[in-house]
Amino acid sequence: MALIVQKYGGTSVGSTGRIKNVAKRVARWQAQGHRLVVVPSAMSGETNRLIALAKEISPNPDPRELDVIASTGEQVTIGLLSMALMELGLKAKSYTGAQVKVLTDSAFTKARIISIDDERIRADLAAGYIVVVAGFQGVDENGNITTLGRGGSDTSAVALAAALKADECQIYTDVDGVYTTDPRIVPEARRLDSITFEEMLEMASLGSKVLQIRSVEFAGKYKVKLRVLSSFEEGGEGTLITFEDDIKMERPIISGIAFNRDEAKLTVLGVPDRPGIAYQILGPIADANIDVDMIIQNVGHDGMTDFSFTVNRNEYEKAKAILEQVKGHIGAREIAGDNRMAKVSVVGVGMRSHVGIASKMFRTLAEEGINIQMISTSEIKISVAIDEKYLELAVRVLHKAFELDQVGA
Ligand code: ADP
Ligand code: ASP
Ligand code: MG
Repeated sequence: MALIVQKYGGTSVGSTGRIKNVAKRVARWQAQGHRLVVVPSAMSGETNRLIALAKEISPNPDPRELDVIASTGEQVTIGLLSMALMELGLKAKSYTGAQVKVLTDSAFTKARIISIDDERIRADLAAGYIVVVAGFQGVDENGNITTLGRGGSDTSAVALAAALKADECQIYTDVDGVYTTDPRIVPEARRLDSITFEEMLEMASLGSKVLQIRSVEFAGKYKVKLRVLSSFEEGGEGTLITFEDDIKMERPIISGIAFNRDEAKLTVLGVPDRPGIAYQILGPIADANIDVDMIIQNVGHDGMTDFSFTVNRNEYEKAKAILEQVKGHIGAREIAGDNRMAKVSVVGVGMRSHVGIASKMFRTLAEEGINIQMISTSEIKISVAIDEKYLELAVRVLHKAFELDQVGA
């Protein structure tokens, strides 16, 4: 008998019919003797609808109030799912994040989980209940409702699995596992039977939204056995996220291609090339809680240089306004920007022991006439920033060039 946490994404609970199907699947697992904690997302489109409503009232919604609104989507699905389970004659009980409680910090709209009180859940499980916990939400130490960032139900599920020391955390979604790249962009993408934790971390952080990055971080920290599966198909093995020690076999050089369309580039032109400039530019950006991704400082000439970096597109205007202020301060000539950028990354632990991956990537893009504007690398990934209009082409040609469409690649 195992303790299993199952998370169902928005599409999987997108209608009452689908919720009934989820209930049947949960019932089958329970019938096999397992204890279950189930974490649904809001019905698909609901969180977007709620955020849009908020923006109709206030273009820049107060973050605390936004979380009050955005968190309600999951309150609906926990109730509906519990009821669907009861209709099957099972004992079920739902809890919001605050009721559990899922304690977070107070960073509204992107709160981090600090701890989870597992006492009630354990007592309910012992009494034979299926426990249904709202994803995406928590509560801070002052009792304010918080949310965990878009896609945060993944993180709720993995954090619950860690707190409960569950045997497995299963992420049920609308694809049957983690693919070599988003199968919606490249139909030839292949499902991976397993992916290393490190690779999954890179894929998630570089834009593969199949798992929220924080859920992967949690899984790594607490060694949660994590699997991605289809909620629409029966019996598939999905993709297991493995920890490297478990794996002795040789890994492919490249496991996948991740991409992100939400990039924006900012450039400070004509900055005096002197110590402290990077700090003077990026300090105020960090103080405004804006994450900076890729950074380039050009080679200086005549005592002047250019300094570019990328941020999330949502934060482009805010970052630009900050730079306009910094400009006078540091004696820069001009601020330029482009908020239609995308980032494409090839990821693979096998890269560590192979050379030539970067040159193959750059050659492939060059052959298509795609200009690379920025590059960043780590041991297991190479990322390039390009014009957004070439994104899909870039992903497709790289997928082919690295033979990710071939079995055993
Ligand atoms: P859910 O609502 O279940 O959380 P998401 O939309 O957040 O689902 O994540 C699943 C989606 O992630 C898939 O439909 C797919 O389009 C996308 N995706 C992006 N990259 C990948 C990948 N490498 N493997 C599988 N799916 C991916
Ligand atoms: N409902 C939330 C969202 O749309 C959380 C999730 O789906 O994981 O972002
Ligand atoms: Mg998701």
